[in-house]
Amino acid sequence: MVRLTVAVQTPQHAAIDSLLHYESEWSLAPGTLVRVPLGRRDVLGIVWNEQSAPGRSPPPDGLRPVSEALSALAPLPPAWCELVRFAAAYYQRSIGELALSALPPDLRKLGNVALERRLNRLAAATLPAAAPQDTAPEPTEEQAQAIAALLPAIEAPAGADADAPPPVLLHGATGSGKTEVYLRLAAEALARGRQVLMMVPEINLTPQLLQRVAERFPRHRLASQHSGMTPAQRLNAWLLVAGGQADIVLGTRLAIFAPLSRLGLVIVDEEHDASYKQQEGARYSARDLAVYRARLEKVPVLLGSATPSLESWQRAIEGRYRLLRMAHRVGEPASDAGSAHGHHPVVRIIDTARLAAAGGPKTDPPVLAPPLLAAIEQRIARGEQSLLLLNRRGYAPVLHCPDCGWKSECPHCSAWRVFHKADRTLRCHHCSFTEAVPRACPVCGNLDIHPIGRGTEKLHEQVAAALPQARVARIDADSTRRAGELSAQLAAVHAGEVDVLVGTQMVTKGHDFRRITLVAAVNPDGALFAGDFRAPERLFALLLQAAGRAGRDARAAAASEMWVQTANPQHPLFDALVRHDFESFANAQLAQRQRAGLPPFSHLVLLRAEAREADVAQRFLQAARDAALNLPLAEGATFYAPVPAPVAKVAGFERRQMLVESVNRALLQRLLAEWTPLLPPLRAAHKGIARWAIDVDPQAI
Ligand SMILES: [Zn+2]
Ligand SMILES: [Zn+2]
Repeated sequence: MVRLTVAVQTPQHAAIDSLLHYESEWSLAPGTLVRVPLGRRDVLGIVWNEQSAPGRSPPPDGLRPVSEALSALAPLPPAWCELVRFAAAYYQRSIGELALSALPPDLRKLGNVALERRLNRLAAATLPAAAPQDTAPEPTEEQAQAIAALLPAIEAPAGADADAPPPVLLHGATGSGKTEVYLRLAAEALARGRQVLMMVPEINLTPQLLQRVAERFPRHRLASQHSGMTPAQRLNAWLLVAGGQADIVLGTRLAIFAPLSRLGLVIVDEEHDASYKQQEGARYSARDLAVYRARLEKVPVLLGSATPSLESWQRAIEGRYRLLRMAHRVGEPASDAGSAHGHHPVVRIIDTARLAAAGGPKTDPPVLAPPLLAAIEQRIARGEQSLLLLNRRGYAPVLHCPDCGWKSECPHCSAWRVFHKADRTLRCHHCSFTEAVPRACPVCGNLDIHPIGRGTEKLHEQVAAALPQARVARIDADSTRRAGELSAQLAAVHAGEVDVLVGTQMVTKGHDFRRITLVAAVNPDGALFAGDFRAPERLFALLLQAAGRAGRDARAAAASEMWVQTANPQHPLFDALVRHDFESFANAQLAQRQRAGLPPFSHLVLLRAEAREADVAQRFLQAARDAALNLPLAEGATFYAPVPAPVAKVAGFERRQMLVESVNRALLQRLLAEWTPLLPPLRAAHKGIARWAIDVDPQAI
């Protein structure tokens, strides 16, 4: 009998390890899927490299045997196992939890016979015999340069002794044709029998993009991986990859764990997008893991964005990433002397404070400043479309009684319930608690209760009133809740059935609106003064991306406009926006971050805890802090005092968090490895902790 180490999914922070020992009649290679007994259940596991397992003596009654080896499928590639091992260690999770959560859930239901049958069925399905379409446009000068820069690493993969090619950051303006660069490089890798991993943010994975990739490579099998797929679709797509039949994986963050064995190229589109960070379970960054995976497998990785993350930008400045630029829109000659930054929509900043003062103290400022309203009217008259961006859904963020001061607070959260006029509800956007709008103030009975502030529903109503001739539509999470609604609404915009589109950031990403020639940010000021240090970076990316919606064609771009209504027109962020100057914005932000010792100049970890009583969460974090301060490595990091989370209470649970900061990432990792094992016993000693989690490289503090 052979002794095997098997990774299984044990509950997070459970007392038992996720690497368990079993015995088997046959030796099974690491990466082989198996079914093994765990307690009274039979669970899916992965044979793990023995060296990874901590030494432990076998139980007195001997090892239990492996129930079944799922040998119909080849073992998962060694590089996949190494990626999982690294991610588990870096993000402080167990190997079993991370490895098993990277597999499709329905795989747990299959025995070897059923698995084999399914694999045979997938293998028998042939690709449609479509001829490759020769529709690829000639690359622009800038595209050709970017392609040429990456080509050598694809043509001649790094040998065993050679270094991995450096990651490439492609800073490409909206409309500069980054996707065409991706597709041409993918074609080169595919032509050499290698596989391509292409990742996009959740919201960008549109059927149009899938279709574009599928049409470009009709002779290659495409597997998509994203959270919108049914469990059966996820299983089939995963089996295509694990069985070696898929040549291209196109997916969102979970695609980073696609078990590709012939990987030749990794592409991360919109690499700055926050959706690459998983927000629950193992809180990994798929963008960062993509860079790690490419280095591990010695293949080129291309990070693309019009507004790169400051982390990637800093690495490019330091020379750790190779920086490529595409400043010009497709169709616009690169030699055009018009502008060093290429042709982009003119940005107009409107000072709403001055408008309000001019209107006199008694009048509310209009929702759209008169010059903006006039500009929209001109567009309507010319048959062009306008997009109004307001990043707040619902009708009004709060209802208020002017008599007694009552506000529509959520009883379960430290947040206001939002007034939704369409179905006359008060809804909490944190815990989803929903009630009908009261007819009168629930405290004093006053019938005259007022909405305060403005969401997309109200903006829609006000714009429709101000522009009676216009066809106004709204796209946000509420208007697109049911399946098919989003694509129907987008189709109406594309068909020209809409004059003015009101929407949240949902509409600023991934969609090409050919007829939109005016984009306006109605009230972006909230993000200027948000508590999180990444808020300006996010706002700049959002506004530049929104500006990019205007005039996607180079011809239209020259006549397109981006308007911003703000009470803070002097803010340097708007100054950089007017010049479409990402670089000066990024460099100014980085200088501030460096002075403040914030990422990328330091590394952060958050320990979060939730309990019914705030004191319980606070004392647990305090005890965790005390335990950390006793560790020999603690001097290399700063452990801040526990504080309430930005939204301190959600769904009845008080949330506290504690920040750990260090300039030395390697030291911080060693410290976490010593600290994390101390936490489960501490939790046991603090009754009432509902949840706790470590978040390495948190997106928001
Ligand atoms: Zn009242
Ligand atoms: Zn709530």
